[in-house]
Amino acid sequence: MDVESIREDFPILDREVGGEPLVYLDNAATTQTPTQVSRTFTEYYDEYNANVHRGIHQLSHEASVAYEDAHDRLAEFVGADGREEMVFTKNATEAVNLVAHGLGHQHLEPGTAVVTTEMEHHASLVTWQQIAERTGAEVRYVEVEDDGTLDAEHAKEVIDEDVEIVSVAHVSNVLGTVNPVRELADLAHDNGAVILVDGAQSVPTRPVDVTDLGADFLAFSGHKMAGPTGIGCLYGRRDLLEEMDPFLYGGEMIRHVTFDEATWNDLPWKFEAGTPPIAEGIALAAAADYLDDIGMDAVRRHEDELAQYLLDELAEREDVEAYGPPAGVERTGLVSFNVGDVHGHDLSEILDDRGVAVRAGDHCTQPLHDVLDIPGSVRASFYVYTTREEVDALLDGIEDAAERRDGLLASDRYHDRVFEHHRDRTNAGGLEDATFRKHSAETSCGDEGEFHVDLAADGTIREIGFESQSCAVSTAVASMLADHLTGEPVDALADLDGTVEALLDGQFPDVRRDCVVGPEDVISEGATEHLESARSADD
Ligand code: PMP
Repeated sequence: MDVESIREDFPILDREVGGEPLVYLDNAATTQTPTQVSRTFTEYYDEYNANVHRGIHQLSHEASVAYEDAHDRLAEFVGADGREEMVFTKNATEAVNLVAHGLGHQHLEPGTAVVTTEMEHHASLVTWQQIAERTGAEVRYVEVEDDGTLDAEHAKEVIDEDVEIVSVAHVSNVLGTVNPVRELADLAHDNGAVILVDGAQSVPTRPVDVTDLGADFLAFSGHKMAGPTGIGCLYGRRDLLEEMDPFLYGGEMIRHVTFDEATWNDLPWKFEAGTPPIAEGIALAAAADYLDDIGMDAVRRHEDELAQYLLDELAEREDVEAYGPPAGVERTGLVSFNVGDVHGHDLSEILDDRGVAVRAGDHCTQPLHDVLDIPGSVRASFYVYTTREEVDALLDGIEDAAERRDGLLASDRYHDRVFEHHRDRTNAGGLEDATFRKHSAETSCGDEGEFHVDLAADGTIREIGFESQSCAVSTAVASMLADHLTGEPVDALADLDGTVEALLDGQFPDVRRDCVVGPEDVISEGATEHLESARSADD
């Protein structure tokens, strides 16, 4: 694979971040777009932009043909049997929801079950939870072993005749594990269930063939495979799609409508209500062409090589814990890890200063992080344009962060007092006899904590404690607020608007404050709830 010439197709890779060359290692979140794809997108708007399947005019005809052909192209990309089996959605999440709502409502009821796994992305985990709650079905989770693989014996136990749907990620977006989908599909089919494969991390990174996998459904997203945002795909076995109810209603998906009823259009349009993502779909077909020109086998090898290289290098460091299958086991091009007691957000900010973009947090897999017993992790993920030198840049950044962590926290990045509050959280820890408690979670980044407030009989704040699994700035601000408020009347808590800003402006002018608003909001919200319930008890 000629990575250097591939890089020429991605102009964004030439940009700098803070004066440093960009090292983009956040590809499991979104990949960059080659000019071949962005050109296709622009050409649509410059040359034949029109709605599809509606106008009897040349532009609409050209747009419709290109949009329909794009379905065939994506069907071919994953080994499906033509456009009837390929529905365009907004993203992988919508594709999963389409199946969950369409099939789930038809087949799930009390006494039936959905089987998924502990390593699922919230896109499917939360969706199945919700459908199960509405239908009375049970959700069962196949356990993850310590080595980041699925427990095959447990899968055999939980997939039984009560199971209607098995929903499993082909590749984990945190562990990089490649799951044995074929075996799970056979188990599902032997028990009369269908299997939905979440291919968000596999379709972009390896050859995927729905027949080889035994998949009845396959969901994936355009923006993770060199395509545009705003488009995802659902492959569905034709007979199942035919049987399934539509998920969204409106124009395009109907055949005939009266005041009393409506009938549905042919596949796949039955599932594409309203004006679809036309430019996005056509550009995604160009992304499929682009990847096929490179060769998906070559992409898979490149991803695995880089992951193995990073794993080997991280294994040299005693302060690094990496998650997922050990070195030597094939994985996709991503590695999640933690470095000593450096919070992931602090590490990713330090890396960002060096132009290295990684992702920190729970990566939309909070239950998996509970299983791993960590609040979050840092994830480096690669794509076709990633070089070994870029992995080295990440390793240099990790080395730098670990060596300079204390100095960085105390000087460049954080004011001394933030550092002190972070390291010496005098009010840290829960209070057993708290008058009220308030949980705070920033789901976008994984920061999390709980405030405990103990009030004296006269309504003054005797003590505030907090438990935090957050970055340095957030924990420091929680500690500062706790210090600042002890001894104040409870009403002071309910009216904290701007206190954190004032504290920071007065004492910490050089601190980043975009992640520190949580504690202020949370304590005042908790106090307001407490005051309201105290007042209604008085009434
Ligand atoms: N499943 C997995 C395994 C993913 O990694 C992601 C994206 N992080 C999704 C589903 C959801 O993708 P999207 O946000 O594009 O819907």
